[in-house]
Amino acid sequence: MEKTLWRVTAIAAFCVLIFPNLSFSNESNKVEEVIYLLNEEMLRNYTEAIISFGARVTGSDACNKCAEYIYEKFSSFGLNATIYNWTDFSGFRNYEGMNVEGTLPGDEKVIIFNAHFDSVENTIGADDNAAGVAALLAIAEVISKFEFNHTIKFVAFSGEEQGLLGSNEYARNAYERDDFIIVEMNADMIAHADGENGSKFRIYATEDADWITGKIKEINANYLNFQLITGNISRKFGGSDYHSFAKYGFEAIAFFEYEWNPYMHQPEDNLSNVNFTYLLKTSRLIAATLAWLADAEIEKPYFSILSPQRGKIYFNEKEVYELKNEKIFAFGKICLSLSPRTEAEKFEVYLDNKTLHVFNEPPYEIEVDRFSFGKHELKIIAYNKDKSSTDWIEFYWLNLGMK
Ligand SMILES: [Zn+2]
Repeated sequence: MEKTLWRVTAIAAFCVLIFPNLSFSNESNKVEEVIYLLNEEMLRNYTEAIISFGARVTGSDACNKCAEYIYEKFSSFGLNATIYNWTDFSGFRNYEGMNVEGTLPGDEKVIIFNAHFDSVENTIGADDNAAGVAALLAIAEVISKFEFNHTIKFVAFSGEEQGLLGSNEYARNAYERDDFIIVEMNADMIAHADGENGSKFRIYATEDADWITGKIKEINANYLNFQLITGNISRKFGGSDYHSFAKYGFEAIAFFEYEWNPYMHQPEDNLSNVNFTYLLKTSRLIAATLAWLADAEIEKPYFSILSPQRGKIYFNEKEVYELKNEKIFAFGKICLSLSPRTEAEKFEVYLDNKTLHVFNEPPYEIEVDRFSFGKHELKIIAYNKDKSSTDWIEFYWLNLGMK
């Protein structure tokens, strides 16, 4: 009890000192506390611990030992920790690696925060991405002291440098389980900044994550005062683990340092390439975002496309084969089936940008049977009050025997 009282008093004093214009509403308490609890020393210690394993090439002893270290840390924070072994046969060679997950349980709505811990072979990868993993660990340590409405999953991926392999496996499994992921947030290269560039930070997001980036800007204006550079994440390509989630239709946000890091994938990507004052600020913005989002009301409509599903081959509406990627092939007629996760008043369905159907009530299922020979796009827009959200699938469709 005494400890708690001391902590609350210290936090209040700190916040009055640093943010004199703030009032202590319940809503902002956790946001302010996680900002206060993070410090440079934690980030420096975790960065040093990660680079002490040396170059962490996926599948190597160093990389696997690093995975075990992250697993032990997650466990010590009281998170439900798991190591997943994955294999990937999709390229010209086989890869094996580990993903590490630490879960802070809440309801069925999930927020994922991840960073990759592997590196290329000629470097200890301090900024790419030991510092991102340090942020993951420090934020997990701080966030795990609280309880939230929604579930938070902290995930460390390997295989990023070989083509986002670990995250692809993870996102595909989440998609097949039909997990309700509010958003995935990616930290990759968030610690390099020289001089005045330390006042700038990049945030890229999928379109339907606009309500989250809007709040990030508000949190930033209240507490961090970065000059934020924002942009859109395409679902078709991307250079870090967020792309694995975006291509399966999940919402994603990617955090990046402002300045191009000339030492990326070079031996010089060492500790002198990490600006810990900057890393503390970037970590605080991410932690504050998590602390707000994990208790936030979800007003944006969320839904899933049950059929046709990414990574499947269909023959006359029936699933006949499962793929390891997100491609869809359909032969004969197809069945379109939607499942709302939150309230939705209406779904508009577009085939190649022409209206195909409008659902005003369940069941949200129709059969589509028309001549086809080639690639198509199905786009679905869900509406609820003044909010809307969009999902789409691309598929190869051969249907010669239409009615
Ligand atoms: Zn990276």
